[in-house]
Amino acid sequence: MSYENTESNSDSSLDKNPDESISKSTHEKQGVLYIVATPIGNLGDITQRALETLKMADRICAEDTRNTRKLLTHFGIQGDLQALHDHNERFKVEAVKNWLDAGEKIALVSDAGTPLISDPGYHLVSELGELGYNIEPIPGASAIITALSIAGLPTDRFTFEGFLPAKNVGRNKALLANLKEPRTQVYYESSHRIAVTIDAFFEIYGATRKVVLARELTKMYEQVYRGNVAGLQQWISESPMHQKGEFVLMVAGHIEETESDEINSSIEELLKILVDELPVKQAASLAAKITGRKKNELYKQAMDLRD
Ligand code: SAM
Repeated sequence: MSYENTESNSDSSLDKNPDESISKSTHEKQGVLYIVATPIGNLGDITQRALETLKMADRICAEDTRNTRKLLTHFGIQGDLQALHDHNERFKVEAVKNWLDAGEKIALVSDAGTPLISDPGYHLVSELGELGYNIEPIPGASAIITALSIAGLPTDRFTFEGFLPAKNVGRNKALLANLKEPRTQVYYESSHRIAVTIDAFFEIYGATRKVVLARELTKMYEQVYRGNVAGLQQWISESPMHQKGEFVLMVAGHIEETESDEINSSIEELLKILVDELPVKQAASLAAKITGRKKNELYKQAMDLRD
């Protein structure tokens, strides 16, 4: 691992190796578009480079200017704020291009976390990137990485699904498509839909899939639920407080059952039904006749099930 130039320097283009020019702009004299991450709750998580960049930027494009004004005021930064949100982004690309052509330094921020991650900025970055403009990341918090870092689910490979569709049909279709996904799955969810989303997981993924729900990360009422879908459904309905705030839902990947796992779980299902209706000895004896398994093994299993 190596760190480069840990001294504060907001003009990070000075830190770059001149040979690393593959993705560098063909518009060397132009300004720079900085993609600046901001905290996801705790203002103490702002980075030094984010503050320096926001201070020196000629303009700051923000998803919600009132919200960003509060952030800037907290850190004593003035900032020329420009609205850039889902509804005006395509139209705003032209204006940002002109500012960059005039050599300006432009910062893009969203309401919280990293821009473009379930937030505006995709059209801007993709269009300006293709045209060869200078675009530099100022990394920081993002709810997905923050949540994964404490989930304890496999993180060597994972999928990010963002928000599920709002309507039942679309949501169920998306979940069905992901049901057999072997990687950890990460979803964003809001307070309005967290309960119905968990109900949908119960319906499609079943009760026992392992899940971790991270609520209000880095904020005063941060909570993390670890368990399975049925337990989470119960936890969410226990208190209206559990449904408030912002959520990252992480679901363990599907584990393919081997043929023998499947046979064993079918035998266990059969035994459960028989044990519910019959004395243990009779249940084991019947199960042995049906499955061809040894009676004494099934008897032991039936005793465990009954207990
Ligand atoms: N750009 C942001 C990022 O980098 O994480 C995400 C913006 S997206 C519009 C907002 C969603 O992110 C919330 O509905 C929630 O799912 C998740 N989120 C943001 N902040 C969070 C927090 N403090 N705790 C849990 N989830 C959070």
